[in-house]
Amino acid sequence: MNLFEQPIHVLHQKRLSGEITTVDIVQSILKRLAEVEAKLHSFITLSEEKFLDRAAEVDSKIQQKQSIHTLEGMPIAVKDIFSTKGIRTTCASRFLENYIPPFESTVTQKLQAAGSLMTGKTNMDEFAMGSSTENSAFGVTRNPWDLDRVPGGSSGGSASAVSSGQSLAALGTDTGGSIRQPASFTGIVGLKPTYGRVSRWGMVAFASSFDQAGPMTRDVEDAALVLQTIAGFDKKDATSLKVDVPDYASFLHQSIKGMKIGIIKELDLSSCDDPVVSIFQDNIAVLSDAGAEIVEISMPNIADAVATYYVIAPCEASSNLGRYDGVRYGRRAQDASGLLDMYERSRDEGFGNEVKMRILIGTFALSAGYYDAYYLKAQKVQNLIRSQYYQAFDQVDAIASPVAPTAAYKIGEMIDDPLKMYLGDAFTIPANLAGLPGISVPGGFTENNLPVGLQLLASHLEEGKLLKIAHCFEKRLNLTKPKMAI
Ligand code: GLN
Repeated sequence: MNLFEQPIHVLHQKRLSGEITTVDIVQSILKRLAEVEAKLHSFITLSEEKFLDRAAEVDSKIQQKQSIHTLEGMPIAVKDIFSTKGIRTTCASRFLENYIPPFESTVTQKLQAAGSLMTGKTNMDEFAMGSSTENSAFGVTRNPWDLDRVPGGSSGGSASAVSSGQSLAALGTDTGGSIRQPASFTGIVGLKPTYGRVSRWGMVAFASSFDQAGPMTRDVEDAALVLQTIAGFDKKDATSLKVDVPDYASFLHQSIKGMKIGIIKELDLSSCDDPVVSIFQDNIAVLSDAGAEIVEISMPNIADAVATYYVIAPCEASSNLGRYDGVRYGRRAQDASGLLDMYERSRDEGFGNEVKMRILIGTFALSAGYYDAYYLKAQKVQNLIRSQYYQAFDQVDAIASPVAPTAAYKIGEMIDDPLKMYLGDAFTIPANLAGLPGISVPGGFTENNLPVGLQLLASHLEEGKLLKIAHCFEKRLNLTKPKMAI
């Protein structure tokens, strides 16, 4: 197997035993990048400078028997939503096309402190609004399993980069499914932590009460490793939680015998494509064979989640995006006739259609006379969904569902039908409304060699439990991946 196809923890053991070097790993990634990036377009900006020198430094530390971090010298991609000091951060928007942040986000700073190498800033839907990465102002990203298909979104560039072996792991963000759904579409693991588990400082805000950063990796053990590195309280983020971070690796390799896994009886599987349903059913059988007890639970308002999210998220977005006014930073329209004209033109030129639509919806829903009917009502439904999860987690350890109703669809297939695209988020959004952690693990492949993921959700701060179940599932399923299109 090529080095670029292997998980970080495996490569780390191999370099410690002297079988390979960090330089070998980095060379394998650089070669892969050179071969496939032009076809996939996973990145907006590449930053793989001095990688070989830095890898050689790690190797000399290993030779001198110095202890190193598992991520040290490992090439990792970063979604272009994280501020990176001195490196362009566009959020896939024309508005920020030339924006170079003067500061580093907390999570990328933590990855740097661990010694990892940033391959580049990955493509995404503009301001993370979308499910296919087609809303990027920098062009589409392709799915490495079928180049005519989307990699999912909004963290589609990160998903495509990891899945194709252009990076060993990536950072994504998940506001309504943007880590888990692209992970499912590209056959990798994606973990959305509990809201507040990971600092949001330095992340470009979309819907601040949902946004959460998390790992996208080749397997579950790597997800534990990256989460360990980025999790924890940050005084710069008032919503980050001041609680200890457990040793996530200690949850792996534990039996799931006797654990209760819930299936929501109101979940509408009839909206799913046939292969998604049959893979889900097989996956549940795997969990049950591993000793888990499958329990039916009820969440009467689960079907209202999409409508609720698509009121609250645009409301928050319309407020967050008010800062892009052409004055402070980012794009400023030339030849404007006055201040108002400058605001209007800058925003008109800088934002794409989806972003404009959400700003309009959010501004409308928050306006006097409509606030109660939309925003307040949506918050009430959000509370209902949250309390239904609390009740569910009194009965079960985790909840299983498909990640999305379909496998990766064709580029262009959904883009003119936003509602259909939004409905594709039906299984991921509820976790964001309740701030719960969720993971997407590869569950199988369709007849066309398209990956399909299994989603597991757990109660607040129970990422360890999720990793334990997901790891056990991954080992038992022992999925053989078909040959990739690229
Ligand atoms: N697809 C959802 C949206 O468009 C979620 C995006 C996300 O998680 N960033 O809002």
